[in-house]
Amino acid sequence: MDRTEDTAALAARKDELAANLARVEERISSACASVGRAREEVTPIVVTKTYPASDVRLLAGLGVRHVAENRDQDAAPKAAASADLPLTWHFVGQLQTNKVRSVVGYADVVQSVDRLKLVGSLSSAAVRAGREVGCLLQVALDAEVGARGERGGVSPDGVEELAAAVAAAPGLRLDGLMTVAPLAGAYAGRQRAAFDRLVEISTRLRTAHPAATMVSAGMSADLDEAVAAGATHVRVGTAVLGARPRLG
Ligand SMILES: *Cc1c(COP(=O)(O)O)cnc(C)c1O
Repeated sequence: MDRTEDTAALAARKDELAANLARVEERISSACASVGRAREEVTPIVVTKTYPASDVRLLAGLGVRHVAENRDQDAAPKAAASADLPLTWHFVGQLQTNKVRSVVGYADVVQSVDRLKLVGSLSSAAVRAGREVGCLLQVALDAEVGARGERGGVSPDGVEELAAAVAAAPGLRLDGLMTVAPLAGAYAGRQRAAFDRLVEISTRLRTAHPAATMVSAGMSADLDEAVAAGATHVRVGTAVLGARPRLG
């Protein structure tokens, strides 16, 4: 493309993203209104995985302040290319300990903390980098007692121990909980019940950790149920950016 076509393509993409953001905003507002919540209680996080850094830049220009990624190898270069933008970066994917050092370099919040070993690595990396990293415990509502979810996540009975470990770890801040509505098991097809359960677990968590107020739940397909249940953060990918070009 020459420069004129390039500029036209970017302008068209910006219009598309603006229209999609407006639709998501409308959904969040009406979900808030339907249960008497104030609109400000919910923060959208735009999941930019598989989309280029140019989209991140357009989103920032449209007022988006929170973005999320799920794979370090894609996220690291995108975050580097966006370092001048006023964005908070969330990491929402399953995290291997060998990627922790890289992730801590750009992530303000890691939403997928689901095991003690990860707490140890995140803490050492955060201390070494001189950063404070916000942590959400990813809860697998369909995991058996003492097990982890298929897509990551600690089982509800493991939340207390993991929360205590994060709260005690240098360089880490316990911010709250995250979940992905289960596709199988007792909560399959029952998003609202799943999100109600997460909010219940959050209420219990806050008796010991009052500052851990974040409840990250709901994606493009079910953000309305999540907001109605009490989510403070929704993670929206396809509803803003379009159907993903490849699995991610
Ligand atoms: C991809 C992803 C999302 C966004 O999903 P959409 O259906 O595209 O809105 C949210 N949370 C996590 C953990 C993801 O990996």
